[in-house]
Amino acid sequence: MLLTITTSYSPATDLGYLLHKHPDRLQTFDLAYGRVHVFYPEAETDRCTAAMLLDVDSVGLVRRSYGQHRENFALAEYVNDRPYVASSFMSVAIAKVYSSALSGKCKDRPNLVQTPIHLSAKLSILPCRGGDKFLRRLFEPLGYSVISERHILDSSFQEWGESRYYTVTLERQCLLSEMLRHLYVLIPVLDDEKHYWVAEAEIEKLLRHGEDWLSEHPEQEVIVSRYLKHQRRLTRQALTQLGDVGEDEEDVRLCETEIEENIGLNEVRLTKTTEIIKESGAKRVLDLGCGEGKLLRKLMREKQFEEVVGMDVSHQSLKIAQQRLHYERLSEKEQERLAFIQGSLCYRDSRLSGYDAAAVIEVIEHLDKPRIAAFERVVFEYACPTMVVLTTPNEEYNVKFENLPAGKFRHRDHRFEWTRREFESWTADVAKRFGYSVMYYPIGEEDSVVGAPTQMAVFTQ
Ligand code: SAH
Repeated sequence: MLLTITTSYSPATDLGYLLHKHPDRLQTFDLAYGRVHVFYPEAETDRCTAAMLLDVDSVGLVRRSYGQHRENFALAEYVNDRPYVASSFMSVAIAKVYSSALSGKCKDRPNLVQTPIHLSAKLSILPCRGGDKFLRRLFEPLGYSVISERHILDSSFQEWGESRYYTVTLERQCLLSEMLRHLYVLIPVLDDEKHYWVAEAEIEKLLRHGEDWLSEHPEQEVIVSRYLKHQRRLTRQALTQLGDVGEDEEDVRLCETEIEENIGLNEVRLTKTTEIIKESGAKRVLDLGCGEGKLLRKLMREKQFEEVVGMDVSHQSLKIAQQRLHYERLSEKEQERLAFIQGSLCYRDSRLSGYDAAAVIEVIEHLDKPRIAAFERVVFEYACPTMVVLTTPNEEYNVKFENLPAGKFRHRDHRFEWTRREFESWTADVAKRFGYSVMYYPIGEEDSVVGAPTQMAVFTQ
């Protein structure tokens, strides 16, 4: 994996001063994940290029960090794209090998450090989750002109189509330190993976390297969220520190989990769902709209369930679910019990047929009302499991959440929330039309006036 930085500033070889690396020498640095070489393929007065070559030791990496899991040998740990692409390894290399340049220090050329010069950075292979459009949405607002070339997956198998790998050139008149800070943050954002676990310290790094530009960036939210590996708590904290959260937006950001967390509602909901499905004697179970896999984890703990399938429309959620359940490290037998499928509950899907039970937990309120008719047929007519456990918020209960402003839903993606009457009328109608009987359970502490926070309907054929 190669990152080259070229300048046409005159004398161009001053790039050597800015990077603190002499143009005549090849220098090699040992980092935790492998070696980094810095050299100059060209060093003329009118044009100079510094190259940083990452030599990732993928075998050493697996042996060092995952030694304890080696009994569950997974080839993927050894054979993957990490040695060949720009990723968070590249950011670590920039911080370690170009550290003075990154912080804008240069004793020998103090004025040059403060002078915008013409720079061009080329990343030989950059994985871009979100494609060329997203790449441009990240760099163009910062003033770069972007040239990208997408690579096909395999030239011997044209029919496999395009890959997520691009060769990218970014050009701009700016300070070298600015460009390095942009690359440091945005390479892992595009890749959307991190080789290490993120914690609070990452917020500090993000804010330090994002100073001056991140708070104004139109894609600020995705940048922060991806950089912090989609961890909601850290993301919120970072956004607040960036001063982005205005009062009006505060309630938009309040997510359901937080609103409901005081009463531990999610846990109650998932425990009750597992209990009911278990009592039915079900062996093969679907979790429709499984999200990040909390219910799947509970279901997997019950040996009665021989097959557990999580389905969701969101690829990202499925990926997180797989990680949370340590899918890669499960034994072969456990892997056979568990499957993930991506799909939409608004389209007929033959993969969902023939199951004993399906859970649809806090999903229906995320569907647009006109799509509900399709959802009904997909679940109750085509998939038609013997039992369906479905939950949704009880809108009447919202008045009891002190941190939820009046008239707001519990989550910004909710399209509606039903009162108990609305829910009972919908469920009774569905049950009648598709040949199910239905029972209701209040979930969470019931209030004598507004009822329980969550409503659950259990449909049985
Ligand atoms: N059942 C989980 C997640 C609830 S959040 C839990 O209780 O924790 C709602 C989930 O529904 C999200 O993961 C969202 O991606 C998914 N979803 C929304 N629309 C969907 C659709 N049309 N098909 C399948 N899943 C959908």
